[in-house]
Amino acid sequence: MQVNNQTTQEMDNTFDAIVIGSGISGGWAAKELCEKGLKTLVLERGRPVKHMADYPTAMKNPWDFKYRGDLSKQVKENDPIVDKCYAYEEATEHFFVKDHEHPYVQEKPFDWIKGYQEGGKSLIWARQTQRWSDFEFEAPKRDGFAVDWPIRYKDLEKWYSHVEEFVGISGNKDGIANLPDSEVLPPFELNCVEKAIQEKVKENYENRHVIIGRCAHLTEPKEIHIQQGRGKCQARHLCYRGCPFGAYFSSNSSTLPWAEKTGNLTIRTNSVVHSIIYDETQKKAIGVKVIDTETKAETEFYAKIIFVNAATLNTNLILLNSKSERFPNGLGNDNGLLGKYVGFHNYRGNILADYDGFEDQYYYGRRPTTAFIPSFKNVFKQDSDFLRGYMVAFGASRKNWGQGNGKEGFGADFKNDLTKPGGWQVFMMIQGETIPKEANHVRLSETEKDDWGIPQLVTSIEYDDNDEKMLQDFFKEGEEMLAKSGCTNIRPWDTKQAPGLDIHEMGGVRMGHDPKTSLLNKHNQLHNCKNVFVTDGACMTSMGNQNPSLTFMAITARAANFAAEEIKKGNL
Ligand SMILES: Cc1cc2nc3c(=O)[nH]c(=O)nc-3n(C[C@H](O)[C@H](O)[C@H](O)COP(=O)(O)OP(=O)(O)OC[C@H]3O[C@@H](n4cnc5c(N)ncnc54)[C@H](O)[C@@H]3O)c2cc1C
Repeated sequence: MQVNNQTTQEMDNTFDAIVIGSGISGGWAAKELCEKGLKTLVLERGRPVKHMADYPTAMKNPWDFKYRGDLSKQVKENDPIVDKCYAYEEATEHFFVKDHEHPYVQEKPFDWIKGYQEGGKSLIWARQTQRWSDFEFEAPKRDGFAVDWPIRYKDLEKWYSHVEEFVGISGNKDGIANLPDSEVLPPFELNCVEKAIQEKVKENYENRHVIIGRCAHLTEPKEIHIQQGRGKCQARHLCYRGCPFGAYFSSNSSTLPWAEKTGNLTIRTNSVVHSIIYDETQKKAIGVKVIDTETKAETEFYAKIIFVNAATLNTNLILLNSKSERFPNGLGNDNGLLGKYVGFHNYRGNILADYDGFEDQYYYGRRPTTAFIPSFKNVFKQDSDFLRGYMVAFGASRKNWGQGNGKEGFGADFKNDLTKPGGWQVFMMIQGETIPKEANHVRLSETEKDDWGIPQLVTSIEYDDNDEKMLQDFFKEGEEMLAKSGCTNIRPWDTKQAPGLDIHEMGGVRMGHDPKTSLLNKHNQLHNCKNVFVTDGACMTSMGNQNPSLTFMAITARAANFAAEEIKKGNL
């Protein structure tokens, strides 16, 4: 049957909006669009994961696991890339994509860590959340790299608040110029050694602040969180298994069920988006082509607007694979820059140290966050021989924390030793901004395809001299701060890890003022195909030093509200 030139099947497959991906950013797109009354289809390549019901290991004890939480040698050998991720273990492996399940071509080593399921990586993220400031948004223009961001902090400020109030962020209002305050719930506490380091850093340095990490945990749920059915954090730190209390933010516990309550949401899982369909006569995108992961059947879905939230690299892949007569090199890719200027975070520096004293003190619970020192290099002026800066994360713990935490030994002596907490140790790491460069790119393989006939992604991304200089600076400054704080036996090491393992990949579809040098405008619309919005990490023009997902959420909420308004005005 046909009505208005549409078959009934096409009508059944027609929505106001399509969101590709149900992870952190896709969940936000779905929530905002559904609340604005748009019938929204979320397409998710992974399996369904329902809050609580599908967290099979959430309440298990170490002795309930065959390998006590570790993975078998065979599993590790079969999937060496995902095995590098610290959160991949016996209790969480079902939320990670195994290497063989979605291969890619590493022209240069890149550890691509993926979570394909309803909720995406929102189930397995570490929940650290910090706002960007204008020190980040103005950096490319000021320092002459990438292109100027078409937005500034004031454009996102109210959306940060909007997101934070719903998500629930624990932390302090720290009053730091380059780390604007969030809307916060009560903070977790620094422990005694961290407090001692905080004092020493304050004594010895200007403009360096030790703070407790702001994180997406409900320390004191408010009415809006109770309405979501979420409860207080129990400080179990078993978060990567899925939280049965809904205490940390995930799409599954928060945005998706909220969107569902509006009656406007349809979620279709096991649905790999192959490409976006561009209509040459209407000169816009009209829908997407989907492959069912179980039957391999192809279906088309249609909508007025499409939000691409498949996570940075898959978003690049989908756009590159969306070829038409108008866009032979990928959707919106008139300037040939799609897939280029990819960046990540410099995670190569670690420092371990001992701390003598406070042996009569301990800490309560398993705090799900850590201490941070926000960026202090090249902030108010260029004061180093490298561009941009880094934040430092650190935490102090007792050495026998977590069944000895890798401690060696056997027999009665070993067991007795484990009953004592051991001395204090401090672990410190860098989270540094990288400079996006044209050479750091992804593209489609011309020969290799995945199980669904989609070209594999080629990753060609590497660290550079700027990252190396930043790393050496971190070692110098980190060691000095620890020494001045009274630490001993300070051991720095370069993990030499490849890009990717930071799991903060960004860029490839960057925002900018000019269609000649960027792909997206200030509302995250493709310059040349305005009804397609990209609001995950792919849209990032530069990388900042803050954990990025909070900014992805704020950008998504802003763009979704703009899109809904534009539809109302008849502009889309
Ligand atoms: C161990 C770990 C720790 C982390 N810690 C932090 C942290 O502390 N703070 C922070 O800010 N960030 C952290 N991150 C990164 C964070 O998880 C990501 O930045 C965030 O999830 C990105 O959101 P997203 O919506 O872009 O992607 P995702 O959450 O990954 O969601 C993307 C979704 O799209 C789906 N998809 C992909 N391709 C297709 C397709 N072709 N068709 C249909 N669906 C598709 C995927 O299955 C997935 O569900 C961490 C990540 C990991 C793994």
